[in-house]
Amino acid sequence: MGYDYGIIGGGPAGYTAGMLLAQRGKSVIIFEKDKLGGTCLNRGCIPTKSLLHSSELYKEVLSSANIGLDITVNSFDFLKVMEKKTSTVEKVRKSLELAVKNSGAEVVYANAQIKDKNTIFADGIEYNVSEIIYAAGSKPKDIKGLEFDHKFILSSDDVLNITRLPESVLIVGSGAIGIEWARIFSNFGVEVFVSEIAEHLLPLADIEVSKRVERIFKQRKIKFFLNDSIDSIEDRTVKLKSGNIITPDFILLAAGRAPINPEVSDCIVLGDSCGEIQLAHYAIHQAKRLALGIDYDKTLVPSVIYGEPEIAWAGLREQDCGEDCKKIILPVTALGKSWCDDSTDGFIKLILKDNIIVGAHIVSKEASALIHELIIAMQNKLTADDLKKVCFAHPTYSEGIFEALLRV
Ligand SMILES: Cc1cc2nc3c(=O)[nH]c(=O)nc-3n(C[C@H](O)[C@H](O)[C@H](O)COP(=O)(O)OP(=O)(O)OC[C@H]3O[C@@H](n4cnc5c(N)ncnc54)[C@H](O)[C@@H]3O)c2cc1C
Repeated sequence: MGYDYGIIGGGPAGYTAGMLLAQRGKSVIIFEKDKLGGTCLNRGCIPTKSLLHSSELYKEVLSSANIGLDITVNSFDFLKVMEKKTSTVEKVRKSLELAVKNSGAEVVYANAQIKDKNTIFADGIEYNVSEIIYAAGSKPKDIKGLEFDHKFILSSDDVLNITRLPESVLIVGSGAIGIEWARIFSNFGVEVFVSEIAEHLLPLADIEVSKRVERIFKQRKIKFFLNDSIDSIEDRTVKLKSGNIITPDFILLAAGRAPINPEVSDCIVLGDSCGEIQLAHYAIHQAKRLALGIDYDKTLVPSVIYGEPEIAWAGLREQDCGEDCKKIILPVTALGKSWCDDSTDGFIKLILKDNIIVGAHIVSKEASALIHELIIAMQNKLTADDLKKVCFAHPTYSEGIFEALLRV
C-alpha cells in the first residue's frame, strides 16, 4: 500500500507534520520506535517542567511563613514527585495519541529505516511512500573521556529515572537543560555544582542575562565554575582543570545533543535532526511551514529557560550589536506586580535600532509569556512609538515593556 508521506519519528516535528498533512487529506504513516511525543514529551520539556513545578512549590511552601501562612512541611516524598511527573507525561501522551488518531494519520510502532527515497522498511515490511519526512530527533551527547555509564555519569534521560535524590550533584554544561536541573535539585535542597567550559553561565544568552543568572545562582548557593571542565575522575572524586575537587553522588552531563541524521539525502528533514535550533517549538514550526506554508523568521525563535525567575529572549544580544544599537533596561523592581509576587529579581532589556526593537532579553516571572509580545513587535517592525500606544493592564509584568520604552 502506498502513502503520500512516510514520517520517521513521532516527536513534535513528526507528529505535527503528520497530523497537519493528514487533516489536509494526505495519506500519512508515522513510524515511532518508542513513544509518541518524542524527547519533548517523554524525556524533555514536559517531565522537567513537572519536576520544576514540584520543586518550586516545595521551596515556596518552606518560606510561606514570610507571607503569614502557618504551614508545617515535614519533608517530601521524592518517589511521589517522580510519579506525578510520570503521570503528567502519560496524560499528555494519551491526548496526543488521540489527536493523532483523529487526524487520520496512521502510526506504526517500530524502528524504521529508509531503503530508498520512496521506501521505508519497518518490522519486516516495506512501505511505499511518495515522500519521506525524517524527524528522528537527537540524542544526549557525551564527551571523550566522559562517556555515559548511566550510574555515575548520567544523561538527561537517565536523571529522569532516579529513585532518590542525591546529596550533591555536578552538572556539566549550563545551557537550558543544565540550568533547569540545577534549579530543580537546588530547590529540593541538593548541593549543586555546575561546571561550564565557556566564560559565563548560559553562554548563548545576552551577556547581562548570563551575569544575572550567575548572581541568582550565587544567592542560592549553587556553586559554579566558569572556563572550567573535568580533568580527571577517580573513584567518584572529580578533579576540575581549575584544581577544584568535588565528590558528587553523580554527574549530570548536559553538554548538548547530537542530531540523528538520515541515511539518505533525498528526504525532508525536520526538527532536531536538522542540527540547527534544537527546540520543540522550532520543530513544530518547521512542520507547520511544510504542511501549511506558514513561514517564520528564524532569528526570532524564542529561547526560554523555566524556573524562578524565568529567562526568555529573542533577537539580537548585546554582544551582537554595534554602536548603532541602543539598549534600555528596566529592573522588575519598578513593577508593582513583582513586589506582590515576591519576585523582584530580574529585568526587561530591550535593544533598539532606529527606534525599532531588534532584541529582547527578560529575566522575570512570566518571561515566557512576555517574550511573545516583544516578538510580535519585532516581527512586525513596530516602532517604540507604536508600542507606547498599547494600553497595558496594571499591575502586570507586561506594563514593564511600556515603562522600559519610556526610557528611550
Ligand atoms: C531535558 C530536556 C528538556 C527540554 N526542554 C525543552 C523545552 O522546555 N522547550 C523546548 O522547546 N525544547 C526543549 N527540549 C528540546 C526538545 O525536546 C526537542 O527540541 C524536541 O523534542 C525535538 O523534536 P523532534 O521531533 O525533532 O525530535 P524528538 O522529540 O527527539 O523525536 C524524535 C522521535 O523519533 C523517534 N525515532 C528516532 N529514530 C527512529 C527510527 N529509526 N524509527 C522510528 N522512530 C524513530 C524517537 O524515538 C523519537 O520519539 C528539551 C530537551 C531535553 C532533553
